[in-house]
Amino acid sequence: MSAGAIVYKSKEEIELLRISSLLVGKTLAEVASHLKPGVTTIELDTIAEQFLRDHGAEPSFKGYHGFKHSLCISVNEEVVHGIPGSRVIMDGDVVSIDCGAYKNGFHGDSAYTFPVGVVNEDVLNLLRVTKTSLLKGIEKARNGNRVGDISAAVQDYAESFGYGVVRELVGHGVGRKLHERPEVPNYGKKGSGPVLKEGMTIAIEPMINMGARHIRQMKDGWTIITLDKQPAAHFEHTICITENQPDILSSFQEIENAISKNKNITEVVLTLN
Ligand code: MG
Ligand code: MG
Repeated sequence: MSAGAIVYKSKEEIELLRISSLLVGKTLAEVASHLKPGVTTIELDTIAEQFLRDHGAEPSFKGYHGFKHSLCISVNEEVVHGIPGSRVIMDGDVVSIDCGAYKNGFHGDSAYTFPVGVVNEDVLNLLRVTKTSLLKGIEKARNGNRVGDISAAVQDYAESFGYGVVRELVGHGVGRKLHERPEVPNYGKKGSGPVLKEGMTIAIEPMINMGARHIRQMKDGWTIITLDKQPAAHFEHTICITENQPDILSSFQEIENAISKNKNITEVVLTLN
């Protein structure tokens, strides 16, 4: 999925990546404001595509290997790559929404999982832990560390709760292409893998299952579901390796502002320490 060498970005290019990445957050916030029981996934997709185009961007996913939509919407046991369609969102669903924006020659990529209506506490905990595992991974995204330091941080945290960490799908470099080198797995060993260097821009995206880590692809050729049909969660940020702290180029701030105004969605709080 990601070919070629690692592409290091200039300061100017990083600012363009930030514009695209922040637009993804704004788009997901717009979608979140319309998310409620009774809405169909294609309605959400249409809202996202219109919002992206109104802001001078193209949906990164539309046309990607033949994908026909702007969002991947994955409900309950669907992990990622769910295809928008006539499915109606129900009270109690957990809905992962992944979005990419292409603007000024650069992609931004981010995802958030929303609990709609009344969701079981154990499923809410899966969402909290998955979101927190993303931050645990980002903490390790530092100049001189290795990709495996991110991977191990995500895996160790998620597995400490007994959850399954998906292995077949991974994070990735992001830039002029949606998927660049290096691959960023959510499992692995500290100190292994490519060295992280200033100017690298990567999407970190834990996909965490309530049950076993095993998945399968549906006959539609896209949708990934858990083999045991237990729920899964997915959170993603596009980030940049800098001289010092990791720079998170995407943002959940506007998404969470939208959640706070939408009585149909529960806030996903962190489970840090
Ligand atoms: Mg994504
Ligand atoms: Mg991604």
